[in-house]
Amino acid sequence: MHEFSYEAPTTVEQAVKLLSSDGDSARVICGGTDLLIQMRNAVRKPKLLVDVKSIPEMREISFDPKTGLRLGAAVPCIEIHENEAMRRHYPGLTEAAHLIGSLQIQSRASIGGNLCNASPAADTSPALLALNATAKIVGPNGSREVPVEKFFSGPGKNVLQRGELVTQILIAAPPPHTSDRYLRMIPRNEMDIAIVGAGACVTLDGDKVKAVRIGLGAVAPTPILAPKAAEYLIGKKLDEKTAERAGELAREHAVPIDDMRGTAEYRVHVVGVLTKRALLGAAERARQN
Ligand SMILES: Cc1cc2nc3c(=O)[nH]c(=O)nc-3n(C[C@H](O)[C@H](O)[C@H](O)COP(=O)(O)OP(=O)(O)OC[C@H]3O[C@@H](n4cnc5c(N)ncnc54)[C@H](O)[C@@H]3O)c2cc1C
Repeated sequence: MHEFSYEAPTTVEQAVKLLSSDGDSARVICGGTDLLIQMRNAVRKPKLLVDVKSIPEMREISFDPKTGLRLGAAVPCIEIHENEAMRRHYPGLTEAAHLIGSLQIQSRASIGGNLCNASPAADTSPALLALNATAKIVGPNGSREVPVEKFFSGPGKNVLQRGELVTQILIAAPPPHTSDRYLRMIPRNEMDIAIVGAGACVTLDGDKVKAVRIGLGAVAPTPILAPKAAEYLIGKKLDEKTAERAGELAREHAVPIDDMRGTAEYRVHVVGVLTKRALLGAAERARQN
């Protein structure tokens, strides 16, 4: 691996200063579970690594029933799973975080790293899309908030500009009778990348769907929403039949590639299956809230 410098600031301001000081050759590192592999393979060659794990606001998990969730971008996935508020209010996002790699990987891998690495197959991205999450970004020109659905600009690419980092992920408090579910299909039992990931968040009004969002992973150059399927469900009872139809409509959004994990045709099929199951699972949880 090439030589590089390392800094571990304790404030966001220091991190922004460091990231801005070294042109395009400075890079955030958090758990390093993506970046160190990319550096070892010479895909990325940063001269300065800015470790954000010692910045308190980036390690915060704070839930308020009125203002919602502030989830620090440097929070490791294992802490999401261990947090009672996360398991209760955002069970779909929690299960996505808990599917990443192994327990060892989850102890290092951060939610912000999973987002910023911008893999089309990242497990937390469809769950964040379903929850209509927003990324809080801080940089040399101040701070801005970008909805996760506008965060990705291509495989491995995002909207961050020079000197910027994601400090927190913000999610509204779930309204009554709302819940989420995330499911993925992988070729092996664990330690593999999704062929398809599907996240759904459902709000019920009686037995009808009041609001719904569906996020899909690994079936397009970036994680995507499936708005046709969501629109179809509004005002309908969410049952086997309507969930099946929503799955068919979600398939229309999928434009996957063939690769060693599965053919495009198979992936499109799996989108229908997982969308249906994620919707039914989210609705089941929403009924209990
Ligand atoms: C064995 C193994 C198994 C894995 N399994 C899965 C899996 O099942 N599902 C899955 O989705 N992923 C998986 N991964 C990928 C990886 O663990 C996740 O993407 C992880 O969440 C990345 O977080 P990190 O903190 O390690 O990021 P890092 O490697 O530190 O950073 C990743 C990228 O994001 C940037 N970055 C990180 N944090 C920020 C920030 N706050 N602001 C701006 N930029 C930032 C970095 O500069 C870098 O480009 C696996 C990896 C390994 C090695």
